[in-house]
Amino acid sequence: MKTTLDLSRAPSPGMTSLAGLSVEKLRETLIEMGLPEKQARMRASQLRRWLHHAGVQDFADMTNVSKDMRAELASRFTTKRPKIAEHKISVDGTQKWLVEFGPNVEGESVFIPNVASGTGALCVSSQVGCTLNCTFCHTGTQRLVRNLTAQEIVAQVLIARDGLGEWPADLENRKLSNIVFMGMGEPLYNLDNVAEAIDTLSDGEGLAIGRRRITVSTAGVAPEIPALGERTGAMLAISLHAVRNDLRDEIVPINRKYDLQTLFEAIKAYPGLSNAKRVTFEYVMLKGINDSLAEARDLVKLLSRIPAKVNLIPFNPWPGAIYECSDWDTIEAFADVLNRAGYSSPIRTPRGRDIFAACGQLRSESVKLSAAEKRRQTEASIAD
Ligand code: SAH
Repeated sequence: MKTTLDLSRAPSPGMTSLAGLSVEKLRETLIEMGLPEKQARMRASQLRRWLHHAGVQDFADMTNVSKDMRAELASRFTTKRPKIAEHKISVDGTQKWLVEFGPNVEGESVFIPNVASGTGALCVSSQVGCTLNCTFCHTGTQRLVRNLTAQEIVAQVLIARDGLGEWPADLENRKLSNIVFMGMGEPLYNLDNVAEAIDTLSDGEGLAIGRRRITVSTAGVAPEIPALGERTGAMLAISLHAVRNDLRDEIVPINRKYDLQTLFEAIKAYPGLSNAKRVTFEYVMLKGINDSLAEARDLVKLLSRIPAKVNLIPFNPWPGAIYECSDWDTIEAFADVLNRAGYSSPIRTPRGRDIFAACGQLRSESVKLSAAEKRRQTEASIAD
């Protein structure tokens, strides 16, 4: 069958990139371009392999696509990733990319290699800035600029793969084996885009990162937690940080909206929880604030009957932070209580502190916010 393409749309300087688009969006784009539905489906399937499995950045390299079609695609689209504003490598091998998604819209992603296993996790951002204002988190001092699109979330993975030289996306010996949504922003305030991004990341014909290797971390947007599981099949992580409502209200202010009881009801409703699919609880160790042995014991009680593991995160300092990291002995004693109760509780050695890539240190410089403005934003985000 001969296809007539609509050539009336001239290529513009700000051409859209196809890299990072879901297979459905690729198909829709090709239909808009004038391809009949069936052909668009076939081409979208080819394109996703080239873009997300092979990682090619030139339409000319897409050898199973006809020459005319390649030229046509190149006249309308690009395969570009967003601009890398900065790339830093820590002495411990951690890498950080500051990605410019648009003018004054900058977000960070961090690759954390596991030296022992040769694998590694990419920590991606779901929003630029954040509305939550957790008092120990640097990103929390930044205004929410906007949600990232699914394509922009996937693009962070493409950029990391480019940097690691890891194309094609073979399953064997991967350096980038896992994804954690633990960068800037609250993923459950951007669930549609996060779910679409996870579909693309886990597509077996593309990047092929299994859903069990993708973890989404939330500060506790309780009503969206079961939906996250149903829509994505991803692993769940909860930024707990306190075992009492009074303290959690203060350091993770979203607790004033969804308290511990509401949060734990939502966690228990997460689909498919089992010993093979445990919830990760993140607990930042703040000296004299949340690190007593009584709190460790209360944590054990709180976790009872939930397949769980705990990540103890030594507090990572940032300029202007009002907290200190707990002493090492205190962290170890806290971990002992959890371990004795049967919970795996690794202490997360801080990674990439020298390049400000560690948990809670991410913050792009583009947007600063006064304390009063920030308070208003938090109040608005926890109000109904
Ligand atoms: N908003 C989501 C995703 C961010 S994940 C969430 O809160 O889960 C980033 C993790 O790092 C969270 O557990 C966060 O609480 C933790 N964190 C933030 N600031 C930190 C700091 N200064 N030191 C250590 N961990 C921090």
